[in-house]
Amino acid sequence: MNLILLGPPGCGKGTQSVLLRNKLKVPAISTGQMLREACAEGTEQGLKAEKYLSSGSLVPDDIVIAIVKKRLSLGDCRDGYILDGFPRTLNQADVLKEWLGHQGKQVNVVLNFELTEKELVRRLTGRRECRICGAGYHVEQAPEKCDRCGGDLYQRDDDKEETIRRRLHIYKEQTAPLISYYTKESVLKNIDGLGDKTAIFDRIEKALNGVSVN
Ligand code: ADP
Ligand code: ZN
Repeated sequence: MNLILLGPPGCGKGTQSVLLRNKLKVPAISTGQMLREACAEGTEQGLKAEKYLSSGSLVPDDIVIAIVKKRLSLGDCRDGYILDGFPRTLNQADVLKEWLGHQGKQVNVVLNFELTEKELVRRLTGRRECRICGAGYHVEQAPEKCDRCGGDLYQRDDDKEETIRRRLHIYKEQTAPLISYYTKESVLKNIDGLGDKTAIFDRIEKALNGVSVN
């Protein structure tokens, strides 16, 4: 099963990708997390990506595509994967379609998370993330340390208010066109993103009933 999580920053893709990974037993691949790791490790690609990440702009396609291509070629992706944060541009979607096409595969389903801008801003300004495993929390309910691994929680540089507005704007301009792209391919399912994570996961499970895998 090749599944894409689509939606604006703060819509809950990252949280749901973890739940989905446990259900579907395929890797969940977050391009944002891979880019932040590359940056922290100081790799050549990471150093190039740094200024885009901190300003909330999209990292150039060539860098992201190279990172994703390498990741998808690993053995654990053989039976499919969950993509969180890729594709984010029409060009990235075309590249993915081509890769899958070469293997006689396709995108099976795109879950499109819908949420109002007001709620997105509320979530993003309160978001805290684990430095080690990337788990997400909201400041109002965040523990002292990460529940999963004990790591420190921090506020991402790009979760400051001005940067958030910029990311939402970029989402509308560059990523939202993927909604009609995947509607035309007949694989898009809208998911109401409001509510707690189990309620949203229930909606996802319903939406996945009857999705054919190839
Ligand atoms: P969010 O969904 O909350 O914006 P992510 O962790 O998915 O957070 O992404 C963080 C940042 O990583 C983006 O603002 C962008 O700079 C970069 N990024 C992630 N995925 C892509 C992609 N597919 N193309 C370009 N940039 C990306
Ligand atoms: Zn953690």
